[in-house]
Amino acid sequence: MEFPLTERTTLRRLPKRAVYDRELVYGILDEGFICHVGFAVDSRPFVIPTGYARIDDQLYIHGSQVSRTLRTLAQGVDVCVTVTLVDGLVLARSAFHHSMNYRSVVIFGRASLVEQREAKLAALLAFSEHVIPGRWDDVRPPTEQELKATTVLALPLIEVSAKVRNGPPLDDEEDYASNVWAGVIPLKVLAGEPISDPRLPQQIETPPYTLNYKRETI
Ligand SMILES: Cc1cc2nc3c(=O)[nH]c(=O)nc-3n(C[C@H](O)[C@H](O)[C@H](O)COP(=O)(O)OP(=O)(O)OC[C@H]3O[C@@H](n4cnc5c(N)ncnc54)[C@H](O)[C@@H]3O)c2cc1C
Repeated sequence: MEFPLTERTTLRRLPKRAVYDRELVYGILDEGFICHVGFAVDSRPFVIPTGYARIDDQLYIHGSQVSRTLRTLAQGVDVCVTVTLVDGLVLARSAFHHSMNYRSVVIFGRASLVEQREAKLAALLAFSEHVIPGRWDDVRPPTEQELKATTVLALPLIEVSAKVRNGPPLDDEEDYASNVWAGVIPLKVLAGEPISDPRLPQQIETPPYTLNYKRETI
């Protein structure tokens, strides 16, 4: 199943790198957890980083009830959300052909408030599980007051494109004879060793989902 191309999601630069395949797009969204949310207030643009989670064909973002971003988006204004995964630095033989290997997604649409209590909780659980699988079951769930103080928005995944670059550098043919090193420096998100809170009682063990934390990689 592919996302339908629209005037806004048709790639014009290097269209061979365009991806509209739903599964591939969802794979990128599920590996990342930070998006950048672009919107305009009084014709002035803002791009704000925030966490997200996906459930089926909806992207959820959440935050404080008083957040300007969330209050603005809840009014149903046009929004553009991007997610970027950087897989490597591509070193070519010429300065011009240096590049990056990446997988990125651009989503256009309008978000709406998730008001129903159970749907709100489901989105928050999805967010927690998306970022740290296994964490939700260990922690105190949100109180009614905490739930009320949290705004959750859903953005339907309808108008979506992805762009993917992978592989070695693409140099000009005459440059392949050059003596300079060329290739790819792979990059990935790597978790360090968990650092226990100084206020943690000694007997509490570090849970496996912190010790073995990793994001899926291609
Ligand atoms: C990795 C990451 C994950 C985050 N996850 C969440 C999340 O899940 N939920 C959530 O509500 N917020 C999250 N934030 C914080 C988010 O970026 C906003 O700061 C927050 O949502 C408040 O939004 P606001 O529109 O009310 O900001 P306002 O306080 O109204 O913003 C006013 C101005 O402050 C500056 N500003 C605001 N945020 C930032 C920022 N992050 N960096 C630099 N300048 C900034 C900008 O100039 C902005 O125009 C995250 C931030 C990062 C970097």
